Amino acid sequence: MAHPQGSRNGSALCYNGGMEVGLYIHVPFCVRKCHYCDFYSLPMADGRGLEEAFVDAVCREMEIAARAHASLGPLDAPTIFLGGGTPSLLSPAQLGRILETARACFRVAPQAEITLESNPGTLDREKARAFRELGVNRVSLGVQSFNDAELRALGRIHTAAEAEAAVSLLRATGFDSLSLDLMFGLPGQTLASWHDTLRRAVALQPEHLSAYSLIVEPDTPFATWQREGRLSLPTEETDVAMFEAGIAVLTAAGYEHYEVSNFARPGQRSRHNQIYWRNEPYLGFGPSAVSYLGGVRAANVRSLSRYLEAVARGERPVETAERIEGALEMGETMMVGLRLLEGMEHARFRERFGVPPEAVYGEQIRRLVAAGLLRADDARLSLTHQGLLFANDVMAEFLP
Ligand code: SF4
Repeated sequence: MAHPQGSRNGSALCYNGGMEVGLYIHVPFCVRKCHYCDFYSLPMADGRGLEEAFVDAVCREMEIAARAHASLGPLDAPTIFLGGGTPSLLSPAQLGRILETARACFRVAPQAEITLESNPGTLDREKARAFRELGVNRVSLGVQSFNDAELRALGRIHTAAEAEAAVSLLRATGFDSLSLDLMFGLPGQTLASWHDTLRRAVALQPEHLSAYSLIVEPDTPFATWQREGRLSLPTEETDVAMFEAGIAVLTAAGYEHYEVSNFARPGQRSRHNQIYWRNEPYLGFGPSAVSYLGGVRAANVRSLSRYLEAVARGERPVETAERIEGALEMGETMMVGLRLLEGMEHARFRERFGVPPEAVYGEQIRRLVAAGLLRADDARLSLTHQGLLFANDVMAEFLP
């Protein structure tokens, strides 16, 4: 599944006396691994029986982190995102313990956005209803495609019909905020089949949609098959046409295109992911989860066994930690902020860094504006349509 914990992100925002932090919980179990996936997760064949130990450890990690950050004062959590992995594989009792511990360790707002990532085929009516009663109020469903051949090529566990059934089940159990994850640039995918996927997605009337281009990540079966010449992907030209088709179809259907890869009905943007794009603080728990708080970005170990051992010793299971300040913090704030279509407001940048973006990036901004990739007005800098198509190249200009 695609979630911004896979990307780099982190400032502080206070209200009601507390600093706000988004909470991310990484649940590292999947039914089996998809061929393109480089998120840290274990197929159930290897992970079965470890769920209880994981839940104990993630609860303990939250307690350790809350104590470690006590000097920052109370931490308010406006959002909780249960990602992975496939968190819907947990039982309601296990998910309940995680949420209860989060509420005990942090000030979780009563109206907090609590998102659960799920895959079609991993929820039944009883479980969905129990998750809703525990306070989960948003489900992000990994659909990826409504074409069964494409789903098989990706190694997904479900069919298109099962994805549609999952949406019906979630609606019937009281979920009024659903997000569907879609992917394009898939093996065997054509512009016509992508249009069909978009049409079937829109017909389900989700409140939110993500549409990501497939990236062949190192150390995945897809990377091996590509090396061996066994992976046939659409051309770059078709990939761009698919991205543009996604924008055209979804905006015509009334979705606001608010981030390079994300679309929402009015008022239905992902609150949690906006924390990443605004480079604001978050705490991640579970193996491979990333935290950004107090100017430090820390990544947890990418191994469930090492994670369990570290937490059992009462330690934070951190593998790498990096101080994010000065040019690095400014560059990262620009890179993630420009992903939002509303762009980077001069005032917001100035409030955080004491100078407007032009004072630091005047040369890059002039070059990108001249190339037609960036738009600059009195209030903000934002990607043009052309800039959206080459967003990674634009972001790279702000690398420190
Ligand atoms: S379901 Fe999501 S996290 Fe699990 S293997 Fe597939 S893409 Fe990766």
